[in-house]
Amino acid sequence: MHELGITQNIMEIVQDEAGRAGLDRVTCVKLRVGRLTAIVPDAMDFCFGILKKGTIAEEATLVITEVPLRASCTDCGEDFTVEAFSMVCPRCGGRSLTILSGRELEIESIEGEQEDESDGDQSPAKNPEGQ
Ligand SMILES: [Zn+2]
Repeated sequence: MHELGITQNIMEIVQDEAGRAGLDRVTCVKLRVGRLTAIVPDAMDFCFGILKKGTIAEEATLVITEVPLRASCTDCGEDFTVEAFSMVCPRCGGRSLTILSGRELEIESIEGEQEDESDGDQSPAKNPEGQ
């Protein structure tokens, strides 16, 4: 399953970005995954669950948005969603297509929290540390 390697890369980016943003923990990672990547979201979620242990993202939830495979027919200009990988234009039957979307594999957002010593003028609604 190729999800493991990909999820490893994502975890590296998440930790990198979180460190840069000064986050103390990551609460949510949102991904956009195109259908053409052949990534199985459940498998990716499973890998994420394993890889996040002991990291800054240990408590994080993974939210995967699947991006449909969209193509444009170069013969008639029709834009359509490709179902079941049948790469044929539903309008004219043409096979000369341009892929519009479906190759995405990107981190949409990384959400997290800061323990924060400096500007504590915001009183959080909930304080799980009880401090
Ligand atoms: Zn067409």
